[in-house]
Amino acid sequence: MEHPATLAGPPVDWAALRRILVVRPDNLGDVVMAGPAVRALHRAAPDARLDLLAAPAGAAVAPLLPHLGAVLTAAVSWQQLDPDEVAPDADRGLIRRIAGARYDAAVVLTSFSQSPWPAAYLCRLAGVPVRVGESKEFGGAGLTHWVPAPPDETHQVDRMLRVLERVGVPPDGARLRLELPAGALEDAREVLARHGIAPGEPYALLLPGASCSSRRYPPERYARVARLLSSAGLRVVVAGSAREAELVERAGGGETGLDAPGLAALVAGAAVVVCNNSGGAHLASAFRRPVVLLFAGTEQLSQYAPRFTPAAVLSIPTACAPCRQLRCPYALECLDIPPEQVAKEALRLAD
Ligand code: SF4
Repeated sequence: MEHPATLAGPPVDWAALRRILVVRPDNLGDVVMAGPAVRALHRAAPDARLDLLAAPAGAAVAPLLPHLGAVLTAAVSWQQLDPDEVAPDADRGLIRRIAGARYDAAVVLTSFSQSPWPAAYLCRLAGVPVRVGESKEFGGAGLTHWVPAPPDETHQVDRMLRVLERVGVPPDGARLRLELPAGALEDAREVLARHGIAPGEPYALLLPGASCSSRRYPPERYARVARLLSSAGLRVVVAGSAREAELVERAGGGETGLDAPGLAALVAGAAVVVCNNSGGAHLASAFRRPVVLLFAGTEQLSQYAPRFTPAAVLSIPTACAPCRQLRCPYALECLDIPPEQVAKEALRLAD
C-alpha cells in the first residue's frame, strides 16, 4: 500500500499548461537520458514551452534535445559536494529566476540517490503551483504530486518516464534521440580532416574522460587500445572536453577543442565508440553507434546500460561494487581489463 500523501494534488491538465520547468541539474549523460521524458511531456503538453534547469555540464548538450525551450543554467546548492563553494544567496537568486518565468508546473527528475525535495521546495517558494517528483521519503508540501520511488536498479530513462506516467503523461518510447546542429557536423568534419580521415572513412572514437577518476579506464591503456586498433587498420580519434586535455594527452593525444555538439557529431559518425560510464555512452546510444563501455563498479549497470544500440560492456566483478566512490580507494580492480580485450570488442562491433 502506498503512503496516503502519494499523488495528493489534483489531476493535472497537461494540455492546458503553457510553461513547464524540467529540473535535471546533472551531468551531460543525465540530460541526454532525460530526452524521452521531455519528449513525453511535449506530446502531453504540445502548447507548453519546456525549459530545462541544468548544471553547466548538462546545459552544454541541451541544444541537441528536441522540444526544449530556454535553459536555466545553475550550479544548484543541493548538488555541490563542498558547502563552502555555494554562495549564501545562490538559492535566493535561483528562486527569483524561476519566479520570473512564471511556470505552470515543475517536473523534478532525479536518480535513485538524489532527493527531489530541495528543488521542489525552491519551486514552491518561486510560486510554481504544480510540482512533480519521486522520492523514497515523504517531504510534505514541497511536491504537490509526490510519487514513491521505484526500485533502485531501475534504468534512469525508465525512472524518469515512470514519474511522468504516474501523473498522467504517457511515455512516447524510451529511445534516446538528439538532433545535431549544422555547425556541429562542420566542426566534426574539420577534426576528421585534421586527422587525415576522409569523409565516409570508418574510425573508432576513444573518449577517456568521465566525471570522476573512479570511472576512468587508465588513459595509458586507452593509448594501447588506440595502437592496437590502428595496427588492425581502423583509424582512431581520441577526444574529450577542454577540461580533459591531460587525459586525452596521456591517451595518446587528440581533440579537446570541441564543444558538446561537436563531440556529439564525432560520436554520430564513428564506426565504434570506446568510453567509460560517461556521457559518451549515452551519446552513442542516441545516435545508434556501437559502443564498448568500460564500466567501473561505482554504479549499478542496470541504471545506465546502453540500450537500442550494439554494445559490449566490460567490467571486472569486485566485492566492493557498487561503491559510489569518486576516487577508488583500492587499485581500480573493476577496470583491470586488458587493452587487447577492449580492442578485440571494438573491432568486432565496428560497422
Ligand atoms: S575497485 Fe571497487 S572501490 Fe574501486 S572503483 Fe571499482 S568498485 Fe569502486
